[in-house]
Amino acid sequence: MAIFGVLLSALLYYSETSKARALISRTSHGVTLFIDGYFTEIVHTVAVLEENKEIRDAMALGDDARQRVLDGYRSITKANKNITYIYSGYENGLMLINDWTRPAGFNPTTRPWYRAAMATKNGTSIGLPYQEVKTKEWLVSTSRALKQPGGGYGGAVAVDCSVDQIIHLISQHDEYKTEFSFVMDRSGEIIMHPDQSVLGTLFPEREKILQQVSEGDLTYRSGNVEYFAHYNRIMSTGWTVVTGVEKKEILRPIIMEMLSLLGLTGVIAVVMGRVQSVLLSRRLSRPLVELGKKIKATIAGDEQDGDEYVYPNNEIGIMALEIGQLAAKELTAKTRELEASEEIYKTILMASPDDITIADLSGNVIMVSEAANRIFGYDPCEGPGMSVMDFIVPEDHERARANIVKMIHENYTGPNEYRAIRKDGSCFDIEVNNSLIRDRQGNPVRMVLIVRDITNRKKAQQQIQALVHQLEIERDLAQRNSLTDSLTGLSNRRFFDTVLQAEFSRYLRSGSQLSLIMIDVDHFKNYNDHYGHLAGDDCLRQIARTLKVVVERGTDIVARYGGEEFVVILPDTDIQGAAALAGHIAESVRALALPHATSDTADYVTISLGVASAAGHVLTDSSQLVALADQAMYQAKNNGRNRSVVLSASK
Ligand code: GH3
Ligand code: MG
Ligand code: MG
Repeated sequence: MAIFGVLLSALLYYSETSKARALISRTSHGVTLFIDGYFTEIVHTVAVLEENKEIRDAMALGDDARQRVLDGYRSITKANKNITYIYSGYENGLMLINDWTRPAGFNPTTRPWYRAAMATKNGTSIGLPYQEVKTKEWLVSTSRALKQPGGGYGGAVAVDCSVDQIIHLISQHDEYKTEFSFVMDRSGEIIMHPDQSVLGTLFPEREKILQQVSEGDLTYRSGNVEYFAHYNRIMSTGWTVVTGVEKKEILRPIIMEMLSLLGLTGVIAVVMGRVQSVLLSRRLSRPLVELGKKIKATIAGDEQDGDEYVYPNNEIGIMALEIGQLAAKELTAKTRELEASEEIYKTILMASPDDITIADLSGNVIMVSEAANRIFGYDPCEGPGMSVMDFIVPEDHERARANIVKMIHENYTGPNEYRAIRKDGSCFDIEVNNSLIRDRQGNPVRMVLIVRDITNRKKAQQQIQALVHQLEIERDLAQRNSLTDSLTGLSNRRFFDTVLQAEFSRYLRSGSQLSLIMIDVDHFKNYNDHYGHLAGDDCLRQIARTLKVVVERGTDIVARYGGEEFVVILPDTDIQGAAALAGHIAESVRALALPHATSDTADYVTISLGVASAAGHVLTDSSQLVALADQAMYQAKNNGRNRSVVLSASK
């Protein structure tokens, strides 16, 4: 009965303390996530300010520009309720800050935020909290050195943000009255604590935490009080959050329950013990106690000592012996099974072409698989101690953190693509799928990241894109070339044929009118012979340009018919309209006054035009209209050139 009571009490003790540990760990995680998120935003703001040219160059700027910088500081301070001050100090003693009068002899370069920024150079430094004299508000300065145009650093910009919200959060208690959290920096100095009297002191138990992985349980004593605690490292600052609860608050109710349980069983045991004390101790309880010891030793994997207890030869003794043997056998079988399955998992992990990384929820690597060597250049034994962020470029950190938060809260598994960094500093592309390992209560404890090198896939995608782009360019060019004359830029003969066919069909259907002007340059052979072929080409280009200008209606088409011949299609145009346009064209070419020394007609370039028109369904085919225009053009040649002849098919 007593053993039964003890067993029950032990069970109660373990279940209650592990529940307490889970609650403390939950608070510690919450506080860590909050501080991490808070400072990630502030660090980002400081980085953006540092990149501002006017802030960097303020020493060399005039009053107007400095005022602009101050206005900028004021509007950011107003927009962000966490930010109390923004200011910058420079090596020549200049200080830009709103609503603050500097005391006599104040030199920004001697201030802690300035020195910290200069010591950190190309990074952000976060100072220790201090209490603003006037408002009593707790503030933290986050600062960064300002790069100068000629190189080097000549100042620092800083953001003071209120950490009251954080102080308030760590003073809160949830399930336990004595629950509280505090924050210590990388050296173990307490920088945020609900009890302000301990600020600046070193946490006595810091050794237990700083050397360890980034998260864990701990038990410690401060004065006469013992605490159950959980700690978590904050990734963005390197600080550690410790959440503790007084041990006695957790244990008191458990002890009370255990006592009443033990008391009850004790009373029963005493009564029964009086009756059967000899029998129980010699023949019944001893074998059971021994059995309990043996099972415990078997589970712990301890060697059985030589002078083994011999079970009495009664029902209880035999039963205990058999249970003991059975338990040992079962345990050995289970252990073998476990070892085998562990071996299988290990083989799968190591054989995978993708890197499989296991990390804690703060991103600290616990293990990487064999493939990490091929993909990142790290030996698998170098993985532990690194952060998952060390494997990707800083520009992707914020997105990666957001994805981790999404995975923890929404079971999000990806895939996500990132730019990755190898050990030798070179960059490449990866795809990451993730999942969570949970404890028995279902709380996430680890994350598993499956990392694939997608360099080749990316390269193939880029090549395909480039190819598609090239094909599109070539397709457009081919399309344009197939319809355009390369010398003059006018439509070519092919396009002319297609359009004329279409316009002739429309003319037949609608019964409207369709006109055509055929144009031929006079004595062009002589022109080439005298001025050369290149000058001839140029002359054709000038005539083409003139045609384009003169024939201005959107539906009209000007094309190069071949050689020094051009043609104009005039839909919905009657013979009078076409004749008028032909006259206008001839006049415009004359007006170009291109000298032609070997022309028999004039001492400048002239053209002959044939105008033909289809109306009243006399013509049945487009080629008849072309022939008619040709005929008119030859008549113009025969009549002395430099003129137009008009022929109509309607009668
Ligand atoms: P006509 O007044 O009877 O039309 O006399 P013409 O010399 O113009 O007659 P012909 O048709 O015999 O000569 C056309 C000349 O146009 C022949 C050719 O050398 C020239 N020609 C054809 N295409 C081009 C070209 O693209 N560029 C140049 N420069 N000349 C061309
Ligand atoms: Mg000709
Ligand atoms: Mg000619």
